[in-house]
Amino acid sequence: MISFAEAQRLVVARRLPDLAVEVGLGQCLGRVLAESVASPFDFPLFDNSAMDGFAVGEGEGAWQVVREIAAGSAPGPELRAGEAARIYTGAPTPPGTWAVVPQEDAVLDGDRLTAGPLKEGAHIRRRGEEVAAGSLIVNEGCLVTPPVVAALSSVGLDRVKVVSPPAVAVLGTGDEVVAPGTSLGEGQIYDSNLAAVGAVLGSWGATVTARHVDDDPKALGDAVGDLLADHDLLVTTGGVSVGSRDYMMDVMSGQSFEVHFHGVAMKPGKPLAFATRPDGKAWFGLPGNPLSTWTGLLMFVGPFLGHPLRMERRTLAAGLTRKPGREEFVPFFLAPTGEVDVKDTVGSHANFGLLGADGLVQISASTAVLSAGDEVETHWFPWETRR
Ligand code: AMP
Ligand code: MG
Repeated sequence: MISFAEAQRLVVARRLPDLAVEVGLGQCLGRVLAESVASPFDFPLFDNSAMDGFAVGEGEGAWQVVREIAAGSAPGPELRAGEAARIYTGAPTPPGTWAVVPQEDAVLDGDRLTAGPLKEGAHIRRRGEEVAAGSLIVNEGCLVTPPVVAALSSVGLDRVKVVSPPAVAVLGTGDEVVAPGTSLGEGQIYDSNLAAVGAVLGSWGATVTARHVDDDPKALGDAVGDLLADHDLLVTTGGVSVGSRDYMMDVMSGQSFEVHFHGVAMKPGKPLAFATRPDGKAWFGLPGNPLSTWTGLLMFVGPFLGHPLRMERRTLAAGLTRKPGREEFVPFFLAPTGEVDVKDTVGSHANFGLLGADGLVQISASTAVLSAGDEVETHWFPWETRR
């Protein structure tokens, strides 16, 4: 069986190429930039006043106020020695401005201005002191946060190229699995995967279609064919294990997919499958047990879509022993000390194992014993866990 690391490497190597789409400033928040942006201008764009007050020419503490410069106007002619101009925050300082006297330090007698000692250049925001024309202000691949929106606005852009959302279809399988909101028949359980998987994919910027199909090869094949016509990626849950009613491997071979792996030495999530087709479509077959679905989604589908979980080395609050052999992913809770507490679940079928957890601790396949204080790799969930 393939190792977790090798499986993840194969997946990341086949990442979908990013397609770009141009959107307006109002639509770009939370998206990923598909272009780097350089500033066409110096910032500040021109020398300007940091205060309401007076721009003064060279002088010995007394000036004649000769005019007024409003924000948004031209700076006008050079200020000569002994001349001053009333000026406002953000208004351009004219050539010859030696400093700005803030309003509160100015003594005005008619048009005669006096002020205490003053440093050359005081309260003048210099052209280019923040950014020189031509310098990069945001890089391709960065997430558009509110400050990025502000930066794009500052350089005058009202549109920007962002990574176009992949179209992802989620297909749930299982005769026993029924939609929440419907009534349960004997032996049936509610579908706890479809809505949650769709929500995570949506939070990664994908446009998501979710559908459930019972364990019927013909119906599954039809649904897969339909969904692949207008989706880049298909994520299925369940039906990928070795039971006689696990049809997904056959269904996907029937759709001309090349399977890169089926079965990963990891826990939970061992039966996971990944396949692609020459036309660029990709498939993840996630096992249906809820913790297996989550682990497959977060550790494989996320990296495939360019959203790997944030990783950190953290210290274990308590020790644990385990059976080595498979790479293991265990929910953890962040302790107030900054250490992580791992939480045993009932197993991969746990429905509630991730409630309140902050992420997954990765325990290497060869590890049998971990002690309190040992460092472990943690993968942080891509959602807020506290308010
Ligand atoms: P499978 O991967 O189809 O063999 O399913 C493994 C286990 O996960 C079975 O106990 C299923 O009933 C359960 N399961 C499959 N799909 C879901 C789902 N969407 N929601 C909750 N449990 C599921
Ligand atoms: Mg099943």
